[in-house]
Amino acid sequence: MTFRVALTFDAEHPDRPTQPGVAESILTTLERAGIRATFFVQGRWAEAYPDTARRIGPAGHLIGNHSHYHARMPLFSPAGFETDVRAAETVISDVLGVDPRPWFRCPFGAGDDDLRITSALAGLGYRQVGCDVVPCDWERPADAVEASVVDDTIAAGDGTVVLLHTWPASTGVALPAIIQRLSDAGATFVRVDELERVPERAAP
Ligand SMILES: [Zn+2]
Repeated sequence: MTFRVALTFDAEHPDRPTQPGVAESILTTLERAGIRATFFVQGRWAEAYPDTARRIGPAGHLIGNHSHYHARMPLFSPAGFETDVRAAETVISDVLGVDPRPWFRCPFGAGDDDLRITSALAGLGYRQVGCDVVPCDWERPADAVEASVVDDTIAAGDGTVVLLHTWPASTGVALPAIIQRLSDAGATFVRVDELERVPERAAP
């Protein structure tokens, strides 16, 4: 059996205690494994960590927009919404040298089922990218993250989009085993833009 897996990482400021250097170790793990993934970059994170952010593009990863302030997008006024999306877009273009359009992921998945939000994103040249597998890496230990990604991805099959983050220590620890075990099971790792079906909402 062979199947495709799109690992996606939200690159953002931590919202829980963690340790420094996780994003860098994730980039190094992906590089050593020779695989490409997708990174949704928060504008303020790229401003704060430009040296780390600049490593993403040359490694061949797809780059999307994860907003500037990482607010719940439905809380913005229409003008505030556009300001936030464009602020992130400008930082990503300036720091990473890449236009993130059309790829966008709503912080917390908030608004991914709200036509007002997805229409506003479309008006700015974006499409919302959800996910099929949510290992809850922000709150679970590495072995649980590893088990969830491996088991749930194999169960979901070809074209699975996995939601991970660049800051939880669990993710940095689990990633080498995730890649090894999924590879052994027949996975090839792809970017979201290589899939013909991209989920618009987060898995329930
Ligand atoms: Zn996020």
